[in-house]
Amino acid sequence: MTKEFDALILGGGAAGLLCAIEAGKRGRRAAVLECADRLGKKILISGGGRCNFTNLHCRPDNFLSANPHFAKSALARYTPADFIALVEKHKIPYHEKTLGQLFCDRSARDILNMLEEEYRAAGVCIFLNVKIQEIARTTEFIVRTADTELRAPTLVVATGGLSIPKIGATSFGYDLARQFGLRIREPWPGLVPLVLEAQDRSRYCDLTGVSAEVIASCDSQQFQGKMLITHRGLSGPAILQISSYWKKPQPIRIDLAPGRNVTAIFLDPKAPRNLATLRSELRKVLPVRLADRRLDVHAPASWTNTALEDFERQLHAWTITPAGTEGYQKAEVTAGGVDTDELSAKTMECRKVPGLFFIGEVVDVTGQLGGFNFQWAWASGAAAGRAV
Ligand SMILES: Cc1cc2nc3c(=O)[nH]c(=O)nc-3n(C[C@H](O)[C@H](O)[C@H](O)COP(=O)(O)OP(=O)(O)OC[C@H]3O[C@@H](n4cnc5c(N)ncnc54)[C@H](O)[C@@H]3O)c2cc1C
Repeated sequence: MTKEFDALILGGGAAGLLCAIEAGKRGRRAAVLECADRLGKKILISGGGRCNFTNLHCRPDNFLSANPHFAKSALARYTPADFIALVEKHKIPYHEKTLGQLFCDRSARDILNMLEEEYRAAGVCIFLNVKIQEIARTTEFIVRTADTELRAPTLVVATGGLSIPKIGATSFGYDLARQFGLRIREPWPGLVPLVLEAQDRSRYCDLTGVSAEVIASCDSQQFQGKMLITHRGLSGPAILQISSYWKKPQPIRIDLAPGRNVTAIFLDPKAPRNLATLRSELRKVLPVRLADRRLDVHAPASWTNTALEDFERQLHAWTITPAGTEGYQKAEVTAGGVDTDELSAKTMECRKVPGLFFIGEVVDVTGQLGGFNFQWAWASGAAAGRAV
């Protein structure tokens, strides 16, 4: 059986659905081919089930890419305000949690329901449980499954990255890019917990669940936020953020007391220079168990001014060299991907292969934590949906 469309969209996640809706609204006969038994699985688990669907302060420097300019055009032509307008049209209650991050009040399901209503209204065809066997290109693109052949002059790849294989992430998009001779920037797990090397793990990981406000930095990037100790290492927003910029064997520096001076008390000559005083000051800044552990491991060498300055300096620059990350099993996103030099920044169409588009996470554009990855999925999806 052969079916003809104007646009075939591979992957029914955030990017693929937005692309199909935009294309359908323009009167294009669009079809979404999804390998899973349902659409938008990642939307449903996102943001702890509440989907952080965009960020009010979205700027190009919230994205990581070999070409930091590439995302600008798409982000400018489909903004957070455009997506918020859609959310408000569907009367979905939402709130700003912090730092411009918008979440559903009820559930991520609201966002998926909204996209489903929109694609139905736009006349988009959805095929679930699609096992693609082959993709060929003649004067048009031909997608073959066991029993069907689908044809269209345009093909949009929206199959996402490698993170969370247990809900179906595959290397399909990268393999297809290679089939068409496109360059890939080697992918790596981003927004991912870090695994400490053995010594730090034995020193700190029995404190699993303890968290503190820190600044984590690596290269020229730094992020302030919560750090959480896990049974193998570190997680929490500040750590997830810096993980996207970290490459083994770089060190990561952690300021355990941002903006605080815990040894200032010793400027007072009446303050006893002993462990009890320092412990009580440190406990004002760090959770008790972490403060005590820090002193067990890094007590000042003596009580001279120089030794106290040294202690203070080290507290603001705990330097770790992670053994690695928790990998794609736990990564919220895949960094790297289809090289943006291969694509038009306006439409996401391949320069070498007219009619072939790549959108969303499979492209070498990765958002920071805070709703930026969905904003990229919507914006790149809209860019292609307006061009197919
Ligand atoms: C736990 C978790 C929480 C997250 N929370 C947030 C958040 O709150 N805010 C935020 O901005 N980002 C969040 N993200 C990141 C965000 O979900 C992704 O960046 C975004 O979903 C990428 O959209 P996409 O459409 O490119 O890919 P995906 O959403 O991964 O969609 C790809 C689709 O393609 C399908 N597919 C794969 N291979 C094939 C194939 N061969 N044939 C057909 N279909 C195929 C997949 O089944 C999937 O449905 C989170 C990610 C995770 C893992």
